[in-house]
Amino acid sequence: MEREFDFEIVMGLEVHVELHTKSKIFCGCTTEFGGEQNSHVCPVCLGLPGVLPVLNRQVVDYAMKAGLALNCEIAEFSKFDRKNYFYPDLPKAYQISQYDLPIAKNGYIEIEAGGKQKRIGITRVHMEEDAGKLVHAGAVNLSGADYSLADYNRTGVPLIEIVSEPDIRSIEEAIAYLEQLKAILEYTEVSDCKMEQGSLRCDANVSLRPWGQKEFGTRTELKNMNSFKALQRALEYEIERQAEILREGGAVVQETRMWDEAKGMTISLRSKEEAHDYRYFPDPDLVPLVISREWVDKVRRTLPELPQARRARLIQSYGLPRYDADIIVSSKAMADYFDAACAAYGIAVPAGTEADGKAKERAKQISNYMMGELTRFLNASEKGFQDSPISPDNLVGLLRLLEEGTISTKIAKTVFEEMFATGKAAKTVVEEKGLVQISDEGAIASVISEIVAANPSVVADYKAGKEKAMGFLVGQAMKATKGKANPGLVNKLLKEELAKM
Ligand SMILES: [Zn+2]
Repeated sequence: MEREFDFEIVMGLEVHVELHTKSKIFCGCTTEFGGEQNSHVCPVCLGLPGVLPVLNRQVVDYAMKAGLALNCEIAEFSKFDRKNYFYPDLPKAYQISQYDLPIAKNGYIEIEAGGKQKRIGITRVHMEEDAGKLVHAGAVNLSGADYSLADYNRTGVPLIEIVSEPDIRSIEEAIAYLEQLKAILEYTEVSDCKMEQGSLRCDANVSLRPWGQKEFGTRTELKNMNSFKALQRALEYEIERQAEILREGGAVVQETRMWDEAKGMTISLRSKEEAHDYRYFPDPDLVPLVISREWVDKVRRTLPELPQARRARLIQSYGLPRYDADIIVSSKAMADYFDAACAAYGIAVPAGTEADGKAKERAKQISNYMMGELTRFLNASEKGFQDSPISPDNLVGLLRLLEEGTISTKIAKTVFEEMFATGKAAKTVVEEKGLVQISDEGAIASVISEIVAANPSVVADYKAGKEKAMGFLVGQAMKATKGKANPGLVNKLLKEELAKM
């Protein structure tokens, strides 16, 4: 935090991510979001007696891929444990998770906050099954509800839990960490990372300590922050709440608290359980997981270029400003669009090489259109780059027409709008609407002489040294040709005409 603060903040985040597999972790039920309540269930995920779980291999592949992308070591030997607790959203009364031997550990990610680079440690990544959902009648939470119903569609959806080291020292760092983590996971395509659908959920451990003190203060665990805004607000509230207690000489109680978005505050949920309260023990129904180095290497080869490497490539190969590169790589869809457009323009260069000057200019043009017009139109129609009505090929088609001087920048705006509305190619729109730029000197010259003749006082102003008068005359010529005149030619011919007078 930038502001003066009397305590040092110590935070770690625990992030749950639903893996994007077709079926659940231990049965063949679909993982699809939503659906009629209790329609995506079978005896296995309902935990009925006599059933046996069977591990979905894809879950292991994805968990490993995420672990590798987060610079973790992949365990050679890993196992599943039962985490016992009773809650109505968990029909077996235990959750299959991993305890002492998680699939991945000791990783890190690089973040940037407050203009500084920082490495945040990843303690572990483990696999587990999701629980069901309670639907409370007449209230958001259990408290105050008339009655509650259980929906087990989500039960058994594969999750990975990513636990960070308590390395986070400010809200800004927490946000940067979550953003970077989300971007990395999106690039690996192991999850759709939709926070609004609960595919990515974040809990935070928060404590404060006097500056210079080595021991951590008592922490609280915050739950239910399902957007970046909620994370920001919950942390602000909780840090201030703890600071107030400490300033008054009180003691923070170790507990789990829930962020209540409507009330704008954190609320005590329960006093904190320790791991031993859960009575973990190895799941006897599942054999230990032995992971060969060949298997790890095979998964490693499927890793895509990750955001940091991609940003470095865009800066080095295309000379893109850091600002542009940051925005483009922040979303995989946007970065893929940029690369596809470069390829369509014939300027794609392999990593480690540098584009020539002309290619860099073109890459910057692509970037400008993507960050400006295209982002604006996509936002307005609530679309992402992956479903842009203007394909990378078509965007390049428009840029080519501009570069050749077939259309002016002004006309390009009209063409762009039409392309976005119809998905048509730039050339088609220009032909259909007769928008080709007038570059015929004769035609422009005759328009100019008419305008000069019709505006004697403006011409006189120009002759008297008022430069602004020139702009007015150019504007009139553009207006007379409905914006289709080549502006360069208009300027040139107008100057010649005025010089003669
Ligand atoms: Zn099932």
